[in-house]
Amino acid sequence: MSPPQAASPNSDTALKAGETGAADSLGEVDLVIVGAGFAGIYMSYRARQLGLSYRVFERGSGAGGTWFWNRYPGARCDVHSLEYSYQFDDALQQEWQWTEKFASQPEILRYVDHVIERFDLAGGITFNTHVQGAVYDEVRRRWTVTTAGDETGSIRSRFLVLATGCLSSANRPGIAGLDSFGGDVYHTGEWPHDGVDFAGKRVAVIGTGSSGIQSIPIIATEAAHLTVFQRTAAYTVPARNEPLDPAIDAEVKAAYTEFRAKDWQESSAFGIFDPRSPEHANQASPAERNERYEQRWQRGSWSYLRSYVDHILSEESNGYAAEFVRDKIRKTVQDPTTAELLCPTTIIGCKRLCFDTGYYETFNRENVELVGISDTPIERIEPTGVVVDDTLHEVDIIVFATGFDAMTGSLLKIDPVGKDGTSLSTAWEAGPVTYLGLSVAGFPNMFTITGPGSPSVLANMITCIEQHVNWIADLLAHMEAKAIHTVEAETQAVAAWVQHVNNVAHSTLFPSCNSWYLGANIPGKPRVFMPLLGFPAYAQRCDEVAEQGYEGFVLRGADSI
Ligand code: FAD
Ligand code: NAP
Repeated sequence: MSPPQAASPNSDTALKAGETGAADSLGEVDLVIVGAGFAGIYMSYRARQLGLSYRVFERGSGAGGTWFWNRYPGARCDVHSLEYSYQFDDALQQEWQWTEKFASQPEILRYVDHVIERFDLAGGITFNTHVQGAVYDEVRRRWTVTTAGDETGSIRSRFLVLATGCLSSANRPGIAGLDSFGGDVYHTGEWPHDGVDFAGKRVAVIGTGSSGIQSIPIIATEAAHLTVFQRTAAYTVPARNEPLDPAIDAEVKAAYTEFRAKDWQESSAFGIFDPRSPEHANQASPAERNERYEQRWQRGSWSYLRSYVDHILSEESNGYAAEFVRDKIRKTVQDPTTAELLCPTTIIGCKRLCFDTGYYETFNRENVELVGISDTPIERIEPTGVVVDDTLHEVDIIVFATGFDAMTGSLLKIDPVGKDGTSLSTAWEAGPVTYLGLSVAGFPNMFTITGPGSPSVLANMITCIEQHVNWIADLLAHMEAKAIHTVEAETQAVAAWVQHVNNVAHSTLFPSCNSWYLGANIPGKPRVFMPLLGFPAYAQRCDEVAEQGYEGFVLRGADSI
């Protein structure tokens, strides 16, 4: 269903009667938005405010993106609920009542549904419809977007917003023999809506990142036997989730706007409850450090990495924080061999830190076994189980908690074709190159939300999404006011931005381990550090670019065509 929006007054090349046909069987709109997660939903809200005609296409049967797909046991956010929520409407943030410090997946999905209903956005979203491709027509200055599913066809649009998500393309490793497995196979990022019954079953979980670490303790209590296959031991800190303190809720809501402004400026848009200490770990005494780490460990979650300012800058300081966690593991896990296998050896924080509820304690259960697959990878999967080092681990269910082809996966599956017939996969052959994480040279009027080159996954993503959408909406309004038809990133601006993102990353310890930030989890993916560190400076730069007449972009009006 198309939303009842007026066509944009700036629809300069609206199709004449008779021009629609097989090539644009779904007609023409100002804006096509791909994805109905937090980004696509808010983009549609702003598009309607601007009076643009738009369509949102979502491959899932419902909205919510991440929170629609990731329904595995224990799924919840790791950013305080009062921060992990929209801030564009004060009445919304005042009226919504979170029940827990870190909201669970079902609660976040209820919030998403509430937002859609409250702002009457459902009519603009077409579900069960996969965007398969998009091709730019330089003559018409239009995108032709092809879809399959509930609405199959193609639609023309002036603008294309790819709100496809950074963590929306599930990574299913191609392990030999998987097709022969006789039991059930699941991926945490594509979890069945009616849940999975683990009772009496022997279960394998492959992967020990955030999703594995959240789900393993719960699966362990339900299954007859659980075998965890661990390639790289991850650092995890207790989440310390609890019911939301009514006093904190009231305090924040009494001055929510000021709270958001402070959050934005001071803490990459989250973590205001646990500010980063300005001190350096390598300048503290061992006793001071241990006391600080213990306090932060007890507070839980992000607080731990905020113990000192230099953990991701100095290997020495990082080593102290890492050793404290290893010490906790050795004290918690009773079997010394299992404890050693669980002890991570990488830089703490160079992969996203995990937060758990009883993860290490789970390995003291009699029905739980840990199998290291770092030196001896999974050889194959057989009809009855998983083979490692010539040993068959018999299981009835395999759960892949193996993450995502992050940041570029969903974009490259669409693989838009821009000017001169150049596809995104060609333009990004050596890794993603963008200007501000928002725009790609050679792809006019196309925007990515929280794309590579923006802070995205290194900050509170909902805040990043709102900042991106607002910036794009302001640009579209500017184009309307100035009769500008196309906007496109300049090649030099892209090159300089990519260099900047790299320089920032390489001034830290982030690039030191095989993280998905680097694409290192996907065989053959170019190794490039994709997100940009530092949300406040980034947002300021975006504002400056706009104030300087969209510096680094080529804006073309009718005269220049
Ligand atoms: P998504 O929510 O991923 O939505 C993108 C949508 O686009 C999806 O619904 C997808 O189906 C759709 N789509 C993609 N390609 C196509 C196509 N070709 N055609 C049609 N539809 C398409 N971030 C935080 O800041 N804090 C957290 O605590 C946090 N926890 C997380 C927990 C999990 C388990 C995961 C996986 C991620 C988490 N994240 C967290 C990151 C999270 O992805 C973002 O916070 C946010 O939800 C992203 O919203 P989005 O709209 O950008 O993308
Ligand atoms: P992930 O962090 O990428 O972890 C995937 C796990 O699977 C890793 O242990 C990885 O090992 C392993 N793996 C990948 N390919 C494998 C293979 N071929 N064989 C064996 N093991 C393999 O994915 P995720 O846990 O789904 O989390 C992704 C991101 O989503 C997080 O970093 C976070 O941003 C977000 N998330 C957040 C929360 C939250 O707490 N709110 C929860 C879930 C997810 P290696 O480490 O060796 O690659």
